[in-house]
Order: sequence, then C-alpha cells, then structure tokens
Amino acid sequence: MYYPEPISKLIDSFTKLPGIGPKTAVRLAFFVLNMKEDDVLNFAKALVSAKRELTHCSVCGNITDEDPCPICKDTSRDASIICVVQDPKDVIAMEKMKDYQGKYHVLHGAISPMDGIGPEDINVPALINRLKDEEVEELILATNPNIEGEATAMYISRLVKPSGIRTTRIAHGLPVGGDLEYADEVTLSKALEGRRDL
Ligand SMILES: [Zn+2]
Repeated sequence: MYYPEPISKLIDSFTKLPGIGPKTAVRLAFFVLNMKEDDVLNFAKALVSAKRELTHCSVCGNITDEDPCPICKDTSRDASIICVVQDPKDVIAMEKMKDYQGKYHVLHGAISPMDGIGPEDINVPALINRLKDEEVEELILATNPNIEGEATAMYISRLVKPSGIRTTRIAHGLPVGGDLEYADEVTLSKALEGRRDL
C-alpha cells in the first residue's frame, strides 16, 4: 500500500526467493529500478530461458538443456561407476573437483519419513531401472551427511546389495584446515569412524 503497484509486485517476487526477507526485497526492487534498461531486460530473459529451456535428463535426472545430458552422453567417462547425489548443485561441486570420471544420478531430495517423503517421491525408481539396464559395478552414495541423507544412502545400499553391485559411502569428517578442538561431536565421531590405515 506504500508503493506504486509495479514496485510492490517486484518486491513480492523477490520475497518468494530463499533467504530474502522483506527489507532485502525492497532494497533489491529499488536496485532494479536504478539498473540500465538493457541489463534489466537481459536479467528478465535469463530468468525465463533458465526456466523454459532446462529440463531433467531422462537418464540421470540432472538439469540440462539437452536430453540425455552431456555427462550421460560422454562415452569417455566410466559408466561402471555412478555417484548418487541429492541435488544438481552437488554434480557441479563434484565436477569442479575434476577428479571424478564416472557418471551421476540426481535424486532431487532425500528420504524423509517425518515429511512423508518416501523412495518413490525422489528419483530412486529411475536409479533401480538404470542398474538393471546398465553395467554398473559401483554406486557411490554421496548424499548429504545428515539424518535424511544417511537414511537415503542406507535405503539404497540395502536395496542394491543383493544384486552384487558394490555400494560405497563418501567419507565425512574434519574439514581441511580445520581444528580438532572446534569440531562438533558428530563430525568428530564420523571422522573417527572413517579412519584408514597409514
Ligand atoms: Zn544425464
């Protein structure tokens, strides 16, 4: 009621974004008003095309503008290893590391009985079909190190075990450059659990 309608609509739109409170939304809306018209148009176009042109890869579930996605299509990658992650952002994090040459499977969430999210509500059925069709030897379960992520890794591991496919879980522990005395108990206990011979 304080702002002309076009501005309050813009403020409302910003409020829908994660981590943006009412004050920040107002600040961003006024920032946009002061931007060059070309920049605003490019911003609006980028929003619309990101939404319209991106789809989920029919093989791995990752976001892509071509189906299958470039990673699934890449024959130079090792198809015998699939790294299972919760989110497309996790694929980007893994790719930035440049050490991993296998394939991926994106779950788009984690099993959470408390929130009524079961295996069928995330991209698990597609993973099971992949394991039947493809020659997979190892499944790296790289779900998040929290209750939902652990439960999801455990569920998939139990489901896959009878097929003889090796399932591994990424190690959790202390961040490099971190200090032992500042680590929380869960992190420290996970670090101890994941210890290896030197
Ligand atoms: Zn793919």
